Amino acid sequence: MSWKHAAVGLLGFIVTASSNFAAPERLEYIEPHMGTLFRIVLYPSDPALAKAAARAAFDRIAALNRIMSDYDSSSELMRLCAQPPNTAVAVSSELFDILQLSQAIAEKTHGAFDVTLGPVISLWRETRRTHALPTEAARTAALHASGFRHLRLDPLTRTVTLLRPNMALDLGGIAKGYAAEAALSVLAQHGITSAMVAASGDLALGDPPPGKTGWKIELNPFGSTTGTPLILIVAHAGVSTSGDTEQFVTLGGVRYSHIVDPATGLGLTRPTAVTVVAPHATLADALATACSVLVPAAAQQLANDSTESVRVIVHQRNADGSTRSASFGHAPAGLIFTP
Ligand code: ADP
Ligand code: MG
Repeated sequence: MSWKHAAVGLLGFIVTASSNFAAPERLEYIEPHMGTLFRIVLYPSDPALAKAAARAAFDRIAALNRIMSDYDSSSELMRLCAQPPNTAVAVSSELFDILQLSQAIAEKTHGAFDVTLGPVISLWRETRRTHALPTEAARTAALHASGFRHLRLDPLTRTVTLLRPNMALDLGGIAKGYAAEAALSVLAQHGITSAMVAASGDLALGDPPPGKTGWKIELNPFGSTTGTPLILIVAHAGVSTSGDTEQFVTLGGVRYSHIVDPATGLGLTRPTAVTVVAPHATLADALATACSVLVPAAAQQLANDSTESVRVIVHQRNADGSTRSASFGHAPAGLIFTP
């Protein structure tokens, strides 16, 4: 996953929540985690609680990174992947939880979102470093070592079994949303519910700022210099945007994203970005990645058929530099204003 990349404000979204109310005060805390900056904005009724609450929230994110990072060979995820195939490994409840969610989304998206694409993703990372497309043989081998149907989860024993040799898991498409959501819960446990946790393009939103109906989210999916920003007003929801604005490679005149297409083993080339508003930040993160892989008609069907209310906004960059966006699905209760 892309945790080494430390971009600020992926995809150029801006969250503004300034209010005319004198109290409670708006406080903001920023720390680097998971290769990006996590930003916590909160309006505590008792400001004395804020610092300790933010500290606990960041500590939770750091603890989740120690479980889920694929850049740290000692993480629980990497230790799991180092086991011989066909070995049932007992894992933490957090790792089991995120893998269960990932597998459910893989099923729903027919593998467009698939955390077992680790070998394909690391091969693609090499391409982004070296600017040389992978050989056919390397791509075939990486795809052969991937596939969500070769990952077995047993809820009774809370064990995970990787069924193929050389399998590797990559949680880069879901872990930031999961961590943002977990951090928001920690803030609530400290009595602070009017809060937002933002991990570049992945946002977990709690109660709105005092006196407001929601958090104002400004989306610039292709960067702040392109197109008119889209405004969302959202509370009690997750909002994630996936696109190639910051992490891409251009080879032979073709621009490839850091999201890989399991059909080809290569980075995506479609000039789109996707925003998902979902009841939870974990779901929003995973679906934004999934809907980037799916063709827009399939993303629309996924949004319309989803048992949870999800709003999918597909942003398209046209050849002449103009942009347009189309929205699908059912707005979650917290999505107060939508294009
Ligand atoms: P970002 O990391 O920029 O917020 P995403 O949430 O879309 O963007 O996640 C992209 C990351 O997800 C990649 O860097 C990689 O680690 C992982 N990934 C790439 N392709 C897929 C895929 N098809 N399914 C699941 N995860 C993927
Ligand atoms: Mg994602």
